Amino acid sequence: MSYVQDVFEMTARENRGQVQFLQTVGEVLRSIQPAVEQNEGVLKKFRILERMVEPDRQLIFRVTWEDDKGEFHVNRGYRVQFNNAIGPYKGGLRFQGNVNLDMMKFLAFEQTFKNSLTSLPMGGAKGGSDFDPTGKSENEIMRFCQAFMTELYRHIGPNMDVPAGDMGVGGREIGYLFGQYKRIVGAFENGVLTGKGLSYGGSLIRPEATGYGATYFLTEVLRHEGENIKGKTFCLSGFGNVAWGATKKITELGGKVVTLSGPDGYVYDPDGVSGEKMDFMLKMRASNRNLVKDYADRYPCEYVAGKKPWGNVKADVYMPCATQNEITLDDAVAMVAMGVPVLNEVSNMPTTNEACAYLQQHGVLVAPSKAVNAGGVATSGLEMSQNSERLNWSAQEVDMRLRDIMRDIHDKICDTLTEYNMGYNLVAGANLAGFKKVAEAMLAEGVY
Ligand code: GLU
Repeated sequence: MSYVQDVFEMTARENRGQVQFLQTVGEVLRSIQPAVEQNEGVLKKFRILERMVEPDRQLIFRVTWEDDKGEFHVNRGYRVQFNNAIGPYKGGLRFQGNVNLDMMKFLAFEQTFKNSLTSLPMGGAKGGSDFDPTGKSENEIMRFCQAFMTELYRHIGPNMDVPAGDMGVGGREIGYLFGQYKRIVGAFENGVLTGKGLSYGGSLIRPEATGYGATYFLTEVLRHEGENIKGKTFCLSGFGNVAWGATKKITELGGKVVTLSGPDGYVYDPDGVSGEKMDFMLKMRASNRNLVKDYADRYPCEYVAGKKPWGNVKADVYMPCATQNEITLDDAVAMVAMGVPVLNEVSNMPTTNEACAYLQQHGVLVAPSKAVNAGGVATSGLEMSQNSERLNWSAQEVDMRLRDIMRDIHDKICDTLTEYNMGYNLVAGANLAGFKKVAEAMLAEGVY
């Protein structure tokens, strides 16, 4: 059995039932095989793969908070600090009812390779809670964030671990989290969190960055194919921060976004989500209702309850911006039958491994989320730089750097594929390129 297979079987044995974590480990290990074979002796000797699939630390803590009626609730908080070989732990916090250790580990593992691709010094981590913000009042959100930080603060710091937002955690939540951190430590260390508001050390373009970055990456992919965004139609899922940023940039570049989705279903707006409709997306998120139907009520268009757009609406590009495993094998089959040529993955691991294999076998160009959505965390890295300098950069400067970073990621993937004599397989290329830097740093730093 090969070293890679060996490590996968060991991981499967020791993480039984953690299906999402094993899904991403399986995917990454499979693609890095060529790099591992080249250096098997040294990687094996220093147990690089075994160390790469085992988080440095997995923190689980209780969060007790009070609702508006004066009743107390208990939730579970998490922070998985996966790997800090190339920089302080870095990754978002997710507040959603279904958060569990499996999900946190999968996201922190992915984050390690994604952050490596950005070229910035950031290790991989993820955290969050099974607290569900849906229907919670502003004050309840604030009290929950404060209770969460009351435990988390002791595990993080600007040079140690720098959380940010993810699903259910946006600018408002980051503000409450930072306020509590500052009260507890008694110092203004704003580099401890990213995604902050502009008034206390946030970066311009950070809210837009994941969606903008995803669109810039797609631009590189399309350029490689001799095409561009202008005149193309896009099916997006989700309607949160990421879908909003992507919609803004796609529209600006002459593309048309015709679908959005939520947990309740999807909307099909053939006129395109543009102008004030994009601002309305922000209101939908701030309402904590989590219903995409609100869009169709406000801007009359087709609303399809209980379904996703995949395979139901034809477009030039599919861009999942909602959550993990939102594209299953059935969706992939429908997508191929419909003739959708490009899948630009924005949400973390939106495609099941079977669906991804099917799409690639049937000629669909798949751009993997690790590369596509890296603009979010990359701009978090730029926010950290500004905090260290105690300076603020202009929107143009941040945007230009973001664009350069996304182009650089695409170039790096292409160079890596050339190095291993492989075709334009972005999924494999992203994993290989992300892996190489982390492995190199781990080897250089010795066994610890
Ligand atoms: N949650 C985002 C991600 O999945 C951003 C993380 C960050 O900015 O640290 O990459």
